[in-house]
Parts: sequence; C-alpha cells; structure tokens
Amino acid sequence: MLRIYFSRYLVAIFSCVALFGANFSYAEEVVVYSARIEKLIKPMFDAFTKDTGISVKFVTDNAGVLLTRLKAEGKNTPADMLITTDAGNLWEAAREGLLEPIESKTLEANIPTHLRDPKKQWFGLSVRARTIVYNTRKVKPAELSTYEDLANSKWRGRLCLRTSKKVYNQSLVAMMISEYGKTRSEKIVRGWVANLATDPLSDDTKAMELVAAGKCDVTIVNSYYYGRLLKKSPSLPLAIFWPNQAESGVHVNISGAGVTKNAKSKHAAVRLLEFLSSEKAQNLFADVNMEYPVNPKIKPDPAVMAWGSFKQNQLNVVAAGELQTEAVKLMDRAGYR
Ligand code: FE
Repeated sequence: MLRIYFSRYLVAIFSCVALFGANFSYAEEVVVYSARIEKLIKPMFDAFTKDTGISVKFVTDNAGVLLTRLKAEGKNTPADMLITTDAGNLWEAAREGLLEPIESKTLEANIPTHLRDPKKQWFGLSVRARTIVYNTRKVKPAELSTYEDLANSKWRGRLCLRTSKKVYNQSLVAMMISEYGKTRSEKIVRGWVANLATDPLSDDTKAMELVAAGKCDVTIVNSYYYGRLLKKSPSLPLAIFWPNQAESGVHVNISGAGVTKNAKSKHAAVRLLEFLSSEKAQNLFADVNMEYPVNPKIKPDPAVMAWGSFKQNQLNVVAAGELQTEAVKLMDRAGYR
C-alpha cells in the first residue's frame, strides 16, 4: 500500500516537472532560419533577449537553402521563424505553405500596408530602395527622370545593369508588370537591353564601379550598396537619383519575416516579430545595413538621410512574388540576360 502511494506521489512530481520544464523551454527560446547574415541580425536578437529573457538560436544560409530545408523538415522543423530578403522569397515560402498567418495589432500599426502580406503570412522589417545611380561627371540630375526613361535612345551605350537572374531585378520588373501591364513593361525592358554598355553584371557594386570608371553613365541598384561603396571609396564620382517622383514613386522591396507553420514556440516567435517592428529594433535593423526602417516613426541612419527623402511606390510588394514568373519570362523574351 505504502509502495503504491509512494509511486503515485513520484509520478505526480515527475509530471509536474515535465510540464513545468516543457513550459519553461517553450517560453525561453525562438529558433530562426535567417537569410540575413549574422552581423545584420544578431544585434536585434541580443536586444530582444535582454528585454524579454527569451533566447534566440539562429542558422544563416541563403534563402533557397533555407526554404528547401524548411520544406524537407516539415512538422519536425526546429525553426519558429524565417527571415529573408526580398518579398519574392517570402511570397514563395508562403506559397509552399511554410508560414502561419499572424493576427497582430502591433505589426499592423508598425508596418505600412504595402510592405506586408495581405494574407498576414509575412511582414516587412526593412525597406530596400532600388534606385538610379549615375556618374556625376557625365550626367546632370536634370537629365534623369524615371526607370522607363532609361529605355530612351538617349541612353544608348550608357546603361549598366545587374543580371536578370538576380531576384532584385525580377522583383523590379514584376512590380512594373503590376503597374504598367506586360506590353508596356516589355517595351521598357527591351529599351534597357538596347541601351546596355556591357553584358549584364554579377552584382550591384560591380555595376556602380563601371559607372564610376566611365564605362557606362547610369545604373539601377539597391541604395545600401551605394552606401557601402561610398563608405569605402568616398571620392567616387557617383550620386543617387530618386526616380519616378512625379509618378508612383521609387521601387521598394523588403527584407522581412514570418512565423513558420510548424513553430514550436509560436507565441515567443510572434513576440520576436513584434519586437523587430518596434522602435528599438527598427533603429538597429535599418542602420546595420544602411536600409530604411519599415516603421515610419523611425528615421534612417544619418548617412542614409543625407541621400535625401523620396516617395516610395505604394504598390503592395506581394506583386513581386505573384508576377515573378511572368517577369522572368518577359526578361528572357526581351533578351535581358
Ligand atoms: Fe543585397
């Protein structure tokens, strides 16, 4: 009899410990798969842990690898959150059923509508502007106006572009299709191709280096690459131009995040996501990579502010994903390699 009581007592104790233990670890850790590199995310995770006591474990890799891994792991994935660049990649993760819709008044208040998924499966955390950079010795800003004007024959032999294989350009063209339709967009892309001074380049920095060297006069890049290059070589004859200001605005994209469908620590993951959209993290999130905060209450880094303010295109970035396949086909037809 005594033995039965004793063993029941033990079972009760063990159950309590097991439950408490499970709860404790549930609240204690978020696992993140991140396509943003460590130095661009760790400062925000550290600030979150300091504020909440919840630790953040993370793995970094490129977006394609992380999506494949999430898909393969299915229900067994340790990941609670996916962070990646480009709305096209986030849209793809959502399409694969890897992300969970999140209802959050905080996220809705902190992030403008055009920078988050209408189905609430992902949320922008920083804004990346894809804009025009030109050689200040060869081009006057008054000669520049819009992305579509770079298709004009006055730019023949003067344009450098990064390869169409890069998702940034696929998103740019996808957003153009959404705004202008396929026929007009194809005409623009054909015009760009006709104006190229060199074969398309492997990266944005290379394109700007050729502009600085006078091999071409103008290019289209993400502004943070301009920031990085000028930090390294301040005397380069390069400047930023904000196009389409009399039209619908500069093409913007995001880096952003979503909570995974199979998150084990969903509650903590939502808290982390909300934290990343808050004032404290937004200051860090944009500054570490010279991007723009999504939260309009936060000012960008002073070095970034010096490039001037601009009107963003308000079209929802979800179009970058929805029309990505169309964009790739269109660029192929237009001979943009
Ligand atoms: Fe980039």
